[in-house]
Amino acid sequence: MRWLRSVSQELKLNRLINFVGNSLWQLNCPLCQRPAEGILCKDCDRQIAAHQSPQFLQKDCPISPQIPLYSWSIYDGAVKRAIATCKYENHPEIMEAIAEKVVNRWRQEPIAALKNTVVVPIPLHANKLKSRGFNQAEVLARRFCDLTALPCHPRLLQRVKDTKPQMQTKTKGERQQNLSKAFVVSRSPQDLDSGNVLIVDDIYTTGTTIREAIAAFLAQNITVKGVIVIARPQFESRSPKFNTK
Ligand SMILES: [Zn+2]
Repeated sequence: MRWLRSVSQELKLNRLINFVGNSLWQLNCPLCQRPAEGILCKDCDRQIAAHQSPQFLQKDCPISPQIPLYSWSIYDGAVKRAIATCKYENHPEIMEAIAEKVVNRWRQEPIAALKNTVVVPIPLHANKLKSRGFNQAEVLARRFCDLTALPCHPRLLQRVKDTKPQMQTKTKGERQQNLSKAFVVSRSPQDLDSGNVLIVDDIYTTGTTIREAIAAFLAQNITVKGVIVIARPQFESRSPKFNTK
């Protein structure tokens, strides 16, 4: 019987070790603070997934017919909260979780040839980067590239003008003035082969930021093959299924 007691004690110990280990290492969901097996809990993950757009390729061509815009979701509800929590409550891992969803969608989409194409996130100005501690678009782009094996060049585009948030501008003219000449392309030796870029950002709002970035690439004879974002505010046609309050 002694061996039985010994095995049972060992099992209890293992259980205790597992319990302590799980309590120490299982992180809570950054959106609801409940325990999560992945980065997000299943409930929050489901709420975010509910905002997925019926169309990944935006058929209204808001940038231009030559530069496709891919938007994974509608900027609303759980997606909006997740992006805000990431940026303003220091949770870059949320971008990694969403990047995986974007990649899953990207893989279903017939895409143009991406030869000599590098992925470039919209950069933050150095001051903003210092205060936030990370660039959410870069976290998104890096994870996107990890999963698609496309090269990520986060330093190719640089933000040289410390602009105010676009949300604080009132008119189209003010938005353009705010971002005018905000970006420059700074090629390093490793960027010399990159003739094409795929731009990645978290949100597409009025498009002014993206247009300024495209202008900076065009000035260097670099072709923008497309733009991928997590969300944009409105879609050309909304299916009632995807409508949100
Ligand atoms: Zn959660």
